[in-house]
Amino acid sequence: ARKFFVGGNFKMNGTIESIKSIVKNLNEAQIDPNVEVVIAPPALYLLLVREHLSNGIEVAAQNVFDKPNGAFTGEISVSQLKDSGINWTILGHSERRTILNESDEVVASKTKVATEGGVSVIWCCGESLEERESGNTISVIEKQLSAVSAKIGNWKNVVIAYEPIWAIGTGKVASVQQAQEVHAAIRKWLKANVSEQVSAETRILYGGSVNGKNCKELAKEEDIDGFLVGGASLKPEFVDIINSNL
Ligand code: 13P
Repeated sequence: ARKFFVGGNFKMNGTIESIKSIVKNLNEAQIDPNVEVVIAPPALYLLLVREHLSNGIEVAAQNVFDKPNGAFTGEISVSQLKDSGINWTILGHSERRTILNESDEVVASKTKVATEGGVSVIWCCGESLEERESGNTISVIEKQLSAVSAKIGNWKNVVIAYEPIWAIGTGKVASVQQAQEVHAAIRKWLKANVSEQVSAETRILYGGSVNGKNCKELAKEEDIDGFLVGGASLKPEFVDIINSNL
């Protein structure tokens, strides 16, 4: 069985004060022991969160660079994350793909370097509204999967997050059917192109306007193994999302 996984992506939000208060709230919460929880504050606050967080919750970066160390102004390396006790990173978020122009290949290279360096990856994929409306959802996601699959040998430390771009921050959550359909397609692709075992064991999260109310229905679906939460991860209802299955 795949352990349910809930990630909180704070994006470029928060202050020392507000992030400390989120951490305090999580430390004091009753959390379903059958759920793996990882939160991703902005890089500047990773150490603060690492220092204050308990309750078995892990910390993720929102991005990492694919070079070992050196003259790369503004970037952070995998070894620096490890050195700081940060064992996870998000990669390929659509905001980085679209606003920061990260290609499928760049995301794949970062995923390779992170996993080989011992940092687990929440690898994001998803289609735009235009791609969905023109019937290209599955082919866009398969292209993203192909790029990463060509570079990585080991999927053990990868969690996939399906995040339709039109559902991110819009309040327009994908329907249970829309999400399950894509999740099942991703699992089918993994079975055909990677292995039966990777297909059976890899967690596939849904992300895009998940909240304390819509999480329960989504969580019941066979191929939805958790969530990657943006806006609601900054609020107390994040605990309700973590506890979707209770
Ligand atoms: P929202 O939950 O704010 O829609 O964001 C989803 C997301 O992008 C998580 O990575």
